[in-house]
Formats: sequence, structure tokens, C-alpha cells
Amino acid sequence: MEFYPVAIEKLIEEFAKLPGIGYKTAQRLTLYVLNLPREEVNEFSEALIKARGTIKYCSICGNFTDSDPCAVCSNPNRDNSTICVVEQPKDIISVEKIREYNGVYHVLHGVISPMCGKGPDDIKLKELVRRINGEVKEVIVATNPNVEGEATAMYISKILKPLGVKVTRIAHGIPVGGDLEYADEVTLSKALEGRVEL
Ligand SMILES: [Zn+2]
Repeated sequence: MEFYPVAIEKLIEEFAKLPGIGYKTAQRLTLYVLNLPREEVNEFSEALIKARGTIKYCSICGNFTDSDPCAVCSNPNRDNSTICVVEQPKDIISVEKIREYNGVYHVLHGVISPMCGKGPDDIKLKELVRRINGEVKEVIVATNPNVEGEATAMYISKILKPLGVKVTRIAHGIPVGGDLEYADEVTLSKALEGRVEL
């Protein structure tokens, strides 16, 4: 049974597709949008279309970018001999915030998770291996400290070590089962500083 006009139901449905948004929240967001001035709604929809249309993945590191290579990969002042491997683009923001890391990144876009049917070929691992050349001295694995993150770190270590590169893992401070996104800057800074070789 439809309680709302079709256009409203449709908008609720679209909001409800977003991660972490249930029907009730979707309903609240929809009613909020309906009360906004028309220009604000236009701006909002244009921002969605523009972001989706202009943002792509960096062909080197896999981060979101509007120019390829991204700002980090094309910055001559970044140290190309150290690659920090993260699960998602949002994790780069977390590491950048501590302002201590001057290397480059690699985004896996996921983790190895047999439970979810995700194997090594389902994340950007081949792309990482391809980046290992004589110039790369260290790969810091900064996947989240949960079962999948640890398993992915061990896997990366196993495939990269024979290539003669040092593989380290961020260490202390990040609670097991935690998420890089929610680690405060001091904790993350200590985790990076106290990394251990795998
Ligand atoms: Zn890049």
C-alpha cells in the first residue's frame, strides 16, 4: 500500500539504498528535501551528478581523483619509495590528517574475505604488485585491524617479500576490530610510527 505520492516514494527508496540509511531515515531525509528551497535542491542534485561524472580512480594508486594521476601521485615532493596500502579512499584522508606521512598510497578497494567470497583477484592486488620496482623500498600495510584486514596484510607480505621489498604493518594503538576511519590522529600517528615488519 502506497502512503505517499509516487515521486515521494521513489525518493525515499533512493535514499534507503544508501549505506546505513533505513526506511525511517530515508523518509525523514525525503521530507527534509521537500521543504528545502528549490535552488538548494538543484545544487544538491547537480553536486551528485557532477561528482559522479568527473571523479575517477587514479590509474596509479586507485584513489578518487578529478585529474589522473592524482594530486599525491603527481606531487614530486612525495617519497615514491614508500607505499602505504589502505582498504578504501577514505583511509587516505585519515592518514593524510596526521601530516607525518610523505610517501604514496595504494587503495585495494576491499579486503580478502572468504566469508564474502572475495579473493585476492577481487581487490587491487595485481595493481600493487605491478608498482613494485627497484624504487620501492617499503610497503606499509594499513588495512583495518580485523580478521580480513590481518589476512590481507599477511597475503600481501607473502607475495611482496620475494620481490625484495620490506613489508610492514601498522601496529600499536588501533584496537582489534577497529576502523582506521575512527582512530584519532595521535593513535594513528603512533600506529604508523610503531609499525612492525611482516
Ligand atoms: Zn594516485
